[in-house]
Amino acid sequence: MGLVDSAVDAFEAEINNLKLNAKEALEALEEESAGAVYDSILTTQLGKVVGWAQKNALWPATFGLACCAIEMMAMANSRWDSARFGAEVFRASPRQADLMIVSGRVSQKMAPVLKLIYDQMPEPKWVISMGACASCGGVFNNYAIVQGVDRVVPVDVYVPGCPPGPEALIYGVIKLQEKIMNEAGTSAAKKRVA
Ligand code: SF4
Repeated sequence: MGLVDSAVDAFEAEINNLKLNAKEALEALEEESAGAVYDSILTTQLGKVVGWAQKNALWPATFGLACCAIEMMAMANSRWDSARFGAEVFRASPRQADLMIVSGRVSQKMAPVLKLIYDQMPEPKWVISMGACASCGGVFNNYAIVQGVDRVVPVDVYVPGCPPGPEALIYGVIKLQEKIMNEAGTSAAKKRVA
């Protein structure tokens, strides 16, 4: 009888132990899934709202390099009115800008300055390469010109042309806005501010 009792006790202890483990595992699972819900639903939705706000309030740095810059300036005037897309507030300080429009050829001498200005812009920030010269050197295939600004800074949108007109640049801004919205709430957007 004593043997049977101790066997029953041991069995009950084992059952209780199993119950305890199952409860702990269940609690851990609930915590994990709550985190997953937070990551996958709440932060994603919040990210979309932030992306929507960012795409509608682009502040380009005042930064012209060559003939393309004249077309870039025209983008903000009343005829083309980039204010319709929330991208008219050109800033003289890179610290207040989140968009660099590289409008023109980048000379080897200018490249370090361009990089410095880019580095001074706060995250998240974006770059539009405007025109053939900025994108690939254009007709200036020589030692003095950088053969594509993406050798110096990462480029998000390339606008082709020599020069691209203001409407082409606005199209580039719209494409950038689409990219911002597509990235919003994803790890790509988080990397930009990391
Ligand atoms: S792409 Fe054409 S317009 Fe633009 S900087 Fe080069 S030469 Fe000038």
